[in-house]
Amino acid sequence: MKFQLLPSTFDENGRASARQHLACFVVDDLVAFDAGSLAMATTDEQKKRIRDVVISHAHLDHIAGLPLYIDDLFATIKRPIQIHATAEVIEILERDIFNWSVYPRFSELRNDHGVVLEYRPFEVEKDFAVKHLNIKAIAVNHKVPSVGFIVSDGKSTFALTDDTAEMNRFWEVANEKENLSAVLVECAFPNELDELACSSHHLTPKVLQKELAKLKQNCPIFVVNIKPMYVEEVSRQIKELNIENLNILEVGKIYEF
Ligand SMILES: [Zn+2]
Repeated sequence: MKFQLLPSTFDENGRASARQHLACFVVDDLVAFDAGSLAMATTDEQKKRIRDVVISHAHLDHIAGLPLYIDDLFATIKRPIQIHATAEVIEILERDIFNWSVYPRFSELRNDHGVVLEYRPFEVEKDFAVKHLNIKAIAVNHKVPSVGFIVSDGKSTFALTDDTAEMNRFWEVANEKENLSAVLVECAFPNELDELACSSHHLTPKVLQKELAKLKQNCPIFVVNIKPMYVEEVSRQIKELNIENLNILEVGKIYEF
């Protein structure tokens, strides 16, 4: 499986910065997990192919590019964009984003080819298919309803959790899988901001270390979703954990899982 974190934030030379504001992961140039920079950073080829977007939760940094993506493609979409999310998240998107005030309610609009947006609700702990991927969503521990994912293409499987604090069920399900190819887990704040991390339901390197003790898989582990202002500090503290196979996921790089 091809896995890529799309860039969303740039340095003064216009190059992708390690300080990323938005989360959007693309698998096989076909399925997006979260849509932070979906409109802004996809290639033309990805724009032609990606019609399925799987959403972990409705925080802005995970959905910012979604309304813009549908807007960009509105006239040309032949197969509607499918938003895969829990019923709770779909309700939030319809109420707070696609509400005619913040952005048009695309679910009620059509172009020359038909509808442009369809919701595909999924339930946690139940497998569902998106294109060639089999996915299971697991509820995680964030400030709002949020899920992590176990994703398989039949050959390899990875586990991805976006924003979360301490959790157990996600690790249990990840441990049930044979030979995970990769685990991706957030670590938003440095250790010094543990109170803020706790109240906003995020991880610090110190807490991440405890979380990773629950993982019984020997595979590469990548840290994602570090708050942009703390990238250097969190990266240093992650390195100091001295955990084999633990690295920060590089922006834009194409990984093969
Ligand atoms: Zn969040």
